[in-house]
Amino acid sequence: MKLFTCGPVQMYKCTRDIYQKPYIHFRTKEFGNLVKDNLKEISKLIGNSKEYSLIYLASSGTGAMEATVANCMNKEDKALVINGGGFGARFCELLEHHAIKHDSINLEWNETLEEKHFLPFEGKDYTAFFVNIHETTSGQLYDMKLIKDFCKRNNLFLIVDAISSFLIDNYNMDENGIDVTIISSQKGLCCSPGIALVSLSKRMIEKLDKNGGTSFKYFDFKDYLSNIDRGQTPYTPPVLTMYEIQAFLKVIDEIGVDNYLKSIEEKSLYFRKRAKELGFTIPEYPLSNMLTPLYFEDDIALDLINLLKDEYQIFVNPCGGKLANKLLRVSHIGDTSIKDIDYLLEVLVKVTNVVRNGAKNDRK
Ligand SMILES: *Cc1c(COP(=O)(O)O)cnc(C)c1O
Repeated sequence: MKLFTCGPVQMYKCTRDIYQKPYIHFRTKEFGNLVKDNLKEISKLIGNSKEYSLIYLASSGTGAMEATVANCMNKEDKALVINGGGFGARFCELLEHHAIKHDSINLEWNETLEEKHFLPFEGKDYTAFFVNIHETTSGQLYDMKLIKDFCKRNNLFLIVDAISSFLIDNYNMDENGIDVTIISSQKGLCCSPGIALVSLSKRMIEKLDKNGGTSFKYFDFKDYLSNIDRGQTPYTPPVLTMYEIQAFLKVIDEIGVDNYLKSIEEKSLYFRKRAKELGFTIPEYPLSNMLTPLYFEDDIALDLINLLKDEYQIFVNPCGGKLANKLLRVSHIGDTSIKDIDYLLEVLVKVTNVVRNGAKNDRK
């Protein structure tokens, strides 16, 4: 069985083995120290090293997206969101739900974000910019420089969901003037789900003070910030997931982060090259190294996904909404090798032939 999925991913043995560890109680100095070490390392990797604050929540990624909206925005704010797929739409829904004023830059799923999309929004009364830097539903990796320059020109807080890009593509908060980065344990960190992390810039922490509180009790960032110096959280965290993160960070440290990122890039480039040679269609917009979408004009994506799962125990990501039967997405993170990719492509060719020929036979 292999998971070519975006998260949870095919986990490495060192993180999968963690569940056998003897349990430690979390209200201890030992666990607090482990948390602090992990957070320090992640802050370094995320590029928020100067005046960082990194907190973590017991939730999936969306919990941290919502908590960010509810803590970092107030009723005077006005947000601009890039909405180019399911996760961009989710930011819009969360802002709507928390009654924060917002507009969106709407992109078709296969439309590349360009300078022209920003023009109508220059010099307006926006205060914050929200983006999922890799829109996982399409695979598009947005141009960070365009976003960074726009935010700088317009003096906006920049809030980035990097859940499907951190530890996958290059990412650096300081260099790009990012005020909030949201990540979660089951994507780039290749661990179990359950932990979402939020890295805050100094000026965002100052804004939290000015915002005067949040409607969220459980996810009140100030509670988390006041506990994190001891490596503690106000409420019970997913203890073992924190151990998995430790194990995974150790792997990254041993390989070196640049080599690690390069290994994901190599897998993605290899897959794309071979897939094209085999006649598969890959969209033209800029892609994250995390995944490759394959496009099927003839509406067979769901059949392929089911055949891969049922006949070969291979899991790839389906797509939601109107693309459900047109796109399937193959992830390149986690414990998969070039050999696994070869096998996946061999099987993909087989099932594509089965589905297409089967469909022809039905029409006869
Ligand atoms: C996976 C993902 C999320 C979070 O999804 P959860 O199911 O809540 O963990 C958010 N944003 C992006 C871009 C993602 O890829």
